[in-house]
Amino acid sequence: MASRALVWFRRDLRLRDNPAWASATAHGEVAALVVLEPPLLAAAGPFRRRAYLAAVAGVERSLRLAGGGLRVVIGQPTEVVPSVAAEIQADVVVANSDVTRWSRRRDDMVRRSLDRPLETHWGTLVHPPGSVLTAAGRLSRVFTPFYRRWVQEPLVPESRSGQASILGPPHGTALSDVCAAELPPAWTEHPAWTEHDARERLVQWLERVDSYHDERDYPALGTTSNLSAELRFGLLSPREVVAAVGDHTPGREAYVRQLAWREWYAHLTFEHPDIDRVALRPEYDRIEWSTGPGPDAAFEAWRTGHTGYPIVDAPMRELASTGRMHNRLRMITASFLVKDLLIDWRRGERWFRRILLDGDIPQNAGNWQWVAGTGPDAAAYFRVFNPETQSRRFDPDGEYLRRWLPELARLGSSAIHAPWRAAPPELAEAGVRLGTTYPLPIVDHAQARRRALETYRQALA
Ligand code: FAD
Repeated sequence: MASRALVWFRRDLRLRDNPAWASATAHGEVAALVVLEPPLLAAAGPFRRRAYLAAVAGVERSLRLAGGGLRVVIGQPTEVVPSVAAEIQADVVVANSDVTRWSRRRDDMVRRSLDRPLETHWGTLVHPPGSVLTAAGRLSRVFTPFYRRWVQEPLVPESRSGQASILGPPHGTALSDVCAAELPPAWTEHPAWTEHDARERLVQWLERVDSYHDERDYPALGTTSNLSAELRFGLLSPREVVAAVGDHTPGREAYVRQLAWREWYAHLTFEHPDIDRVALRPEYDRIEWSTGPGPDAAFEAWRTGHTGYPIVDAPMRELASTGRMHNRLRMITASFLVKDLLIDWRRGERWFRRILLDGDIPQNAGNWQWVAGTGPDAAAYFRVFNPETQSRRFDPDGEYLRRWLPELARLGSSAIHAPWRAAPPELAEAGVRLGTTYPLPIVDHAQARRRALETYRQALA
């Protein structure tokens, strides 16, 4: 049995119900490490970077409260992990695995450069990849059969921390020291975001979850859990969330089903590590996406929220200013890019991934493939979201739209969904000048839909 372990935290930034932490603290002594890689922090975009650093500050606080501390080092894991392990004479390095191509390659390289074992666990999923299979022993290509099996799998018990003593980090390696010394000043402000905060939010959510099945599709209501970032950074254990929610009401059942989507995309990514690059239905990679200056301008209009379609523009502006977007709106905006503008889903996926607070390859690429129709069990390609209809249905009073499009706020609850259709006096009274204070639609949806269907049809012929 190992007597000294080094726990390398990545996207499992908590101590409770953390299998790697539980194993390492079973006995002896344990040291905790986070490796910060500036290129990855830069690629993360402002919201996720700030959240990640705040979550690192959070796990540092939890470790201090437990009597130890966290060593933070900037550099390459292939160099830092072996060097810290050697310095503290660790018998073993312990971590929770991840499913992406990049993280698996990193872990293989670290394993090869270590002269001691790298012990891995699964602490970011309810059930690990490869454990939810069809009768034929395969991962289901269709969500519902996956879900049925997944939900029947018994939950493993909570991973409980042991009694190992936690080593304090060497002087100058606390997060604040390292950030102040080595990161750009703009990156160093991050109040701690702790697992305790995350659990409080889960407890509050449990008071509201019972109406989830009825209300989750209406962005103005704020009736989803908003816990995706807590799951993304591992402040919450998904196993703990499923156990706490249970399935004894329709709302709870619907909520756990959404968590199963998260798992399915992770399992798919484990099997198809190129999920962000390659259509999971290869024939869809024959689609001729629009390229060139026209589509570039259209992409910019989409990215900045100036397409002339309020239900596309409002969420894109919310995303750019907060890093957040409701699931229904992610579907609508993604569909608009892919089907109305006929722009390659990979381009949208990259923008979302950079800017989303919860941006994560499996969920993001999996959902983009769903919207584009290129993934297994995706929306049929000929089902094209009509932005106006979606807007009227899911934000009937335009309450959400008004929050993010102040220039349309004085329009009535019907006109706000399609200002181009509003009568001139109504526009004038609301202070809207189309083409000046708010754009005219950059495409005609009916025409764009026909073009998309024809393009898809040709590719699949
Ligand atoms: P809730 O409605 O409260 O759902 C509970 C949890 O279930 C979420 O926190 C999330 O972990 C999971 N979940 C819910 N819906 C989905 C789904 N469709 N796919 C996978 N997991 C789901 N989610 C991410 O976590 N990261 C992403 O990068 C991401 N990119 C997306 C891109 C597109 C184009 C679309 C359509 C969806 C994307 N999603 C992504 C899924 C979903 O939109 C978010 O998980 C959800 O909006 C987060 O809000 P919430 O926590 O309030 O969700």
